[in-house]
Amino acid sequence: MPQHSIALIHHPESYNHVQPFPKPNLEAFDTPLRIQVALEHLKKAGMLEQIRKVQAPRAEPEEVLLVHSPYVLDSVTLMSHLGSGELGEAAHASPDLLDSVLLAVGGAMRAAELAMTKDVKHAFSLMRPPGHHASTSTSMGLCYFNNLAIAVKHAMKQPEIDRVSIIDFDDHFGNGTAEIFYSNPHVQYISIHEYDYENMGLGHGDELGHGDAAGTNINIPLVESSPDVSYQAAAERIVIPAVEKFRPSIIAVSAGYDAHYADPVGNMNVDSRTFWKLGNAVNKLVDKMNLPGSFLALEGGYNPFVMGPSIEATLRGLNGEPMPKLEDQLDRVDQEEIVDANENILDGLLAALEQFW
Ligand SMILES: [Zn+2]
Repeated sequence: MPQHSIALIHHPESYNHVQPFPKPNLEAFDTPLRIQVALEHLKKAGMLEQIRKVQAPRAEPEEVLLVHSPYVLDSVTLMSHLGSGELGEAAHASPDLLDSVLLAVGGAMRAAELAMTKDVKHAFSLMRPPGHHASTSTSMGLCYFNNLAIAVKHAMKQPEIDRVSIIDFDDHFGNGTAEIFYSNPHVQYISIHEYDYENMGLGHGDELGHGDAAGTNINIPLVESSPDVSYQAAAERIVIPAVEKFRPSIIAVSAGYDAHYADPVGNMNVDSRTFWKLGNAVNKLVDKMNLPGSFLALEGGYNPFVMGPSIEATLRGLNGEPMPKLEDQLDRVDQEEIVDANENILDGLLAALEQFW
């Protein structure tokens, strides 16, 4: 293993965009503390010496157009200059918004570059605001530009990157990323998410992609309060075989941590052991398929005190290290009816995917 097989991409100015709302507004949850406390944890855990630290570059505004309509770029730019206003549902402007979002896009693009050139094996962009709810033409859900989708399109400018698998384990359905690639047969989007009203009527298992891309959109909607064992089943039964069948040139990950049991927004019941398993699964897929590596961008995760252990677990999984024992790992009782309901969902999804495999 190279000395630095993992890079962490960061920029302190990603702290500057602050939503103007007091709790309990949803916007109040995406605070700079999410990243500051996580970094403090990674430092104490000795992770920062093990990994390569890279400062995020600022993306050029035109790079946003790889994915978004000019309307999205123009409205974020204008409202950021105005310093306030609503860009979409739960997506408000602040005076530092444009700078922060261009850094978040730049961080994800840099992560893609580091992984595809084999500078490191895995590159994680620890930036905010998140991106996976932003669609071609709309900012929403704390997301303005779709950082990871832009990084995927950026990577695909290189001829050797002609197929990308995206794994999204944020608590919520990444409606923006799914929409952006829904008709693109070269990009596979796999989302494990909590199925609930926040998905705006989307995120069902029967949304499989359009035209030539049929079979490349894979939604795994698990029920509320799903435990670690259901995430493991989703990974083993669907995510891993789906990526192996698709045979991507590289893997991209939307890494959201709001499925953690202690998260104030998501309603799932997993701890950092699930995030280690997902990181470990990505690393094994990279090795098995002889890929250059993977790149990850932070999505949600709103309890600053569990972001650190969750990200540490992901990085150790990616690095091929054993599962660490971390302070958030509590034994909780799995509700049998929830585990059974999820198994039925996975059975139905596998039956629908068979025609493409
Ligand atoms: Zn989320």
